Amino acid sequence: MTTTRTAVVTGAARGIGAGVAKRLARDGFAVAVVDLDETACKPVVEEIEAGGGRALAVGANVADEQAVQAAVARIAEELGEPTVLVNNAGITRDNLLFKMTADDWDAVMNVHLRGSFLMTRAVQGYMTKAGWGRIVNLSSTSALGNRGQANYAAAKAGLQGFTKTLALELGKFGVTANAIAPGFIETDMTATTAARIGMSFDDFKNAAAAQIPVARTGKPEDIAHAVSFFVSEGAGFVSGQVLYVAGGPKA
Ligand code: NAP
Repeated sequence: MTTTRTAVVTGAARGIGAGVAKRLARDGFAVAVVDLDETACKPVVEEIEAGGGRALAVGANVADEQAVQAAVARIAEELGEPTVLVNNAGITRDNLLFKMTADDWDAVMNVHLRGSFLMTRAVQGYMTKAGWGRIVNLSSTSALGNRGQANYAAAKAGLQGFTKTLALELGKFGVTANAIAPGFIETDMTATTAARIGMSFDDFKNAAAAQIPVARTGKPEDIAHAVSFFVSEGAGFVSGQVLYVAGGPKA
């Protein structure tokens, strides 16, 4: 008998996280759709259920230690003990260094780094117990440096070091950890950036596509496909890697 594996995707009410949640459901996982607002997770859950999958909407701030503990316990109880974790929740607080506030810095560190740490620590016990697990962390091409994103670039580079350390510590328990570093993906996050710099989203996308070797911007499905590979059964010998999914080569 094969049992359904449970996957947890954070920041899954919209954007890349929603795309990943729907893809993993199609791949046969029961999926916990975690985001700040539980109600906002419901449409993704309903879409998964309408397609014959299993999903659970869970409201939690990934940067809140108690909320994370409670959310993961509830997922284990109501959906099944999780052995796949996709740390996707993220925010931007862009500004040039001289205008960046300490709050902008802390907010970004809290969601990306503290959030991924807390979620991974809460879930890893189920993975080591099962002798099988898959962790995927969302980094970014901004990890290589990006004007106006000192906080975000540092967090996304930090996630790469975090990923490699997880791979070293958890490998012997059958757990892999990898990072995906997307380039430009069409979501509310990039739409907000366009608005901030006073461009229409279409103009912003076209300008980005002109710099991308495959001559288009990415979609959440492009990232979901890479996640699907990393969490697959056959990817058990791939660990500690950073995959740039950016329509062209990155360092
Ligand atoms: P998005 O559309 O802004 O979605 C992010 C989701 O994360 C939102 O639903 C948001 O909830 C949720 N979230 C924020 N803080 C949270 C917290 N503390 N706890 C739980 N959930 C939280 O962003 P996206 O473009 O899909 O990005 C997803 C991930 O990919 C992020 O880590 C981002 O840094 C990374 N990434 C994106 C791009 C890109 O081009 N879009 C490129 C590289 C990397 P609310 O809606 O309630 O705020």
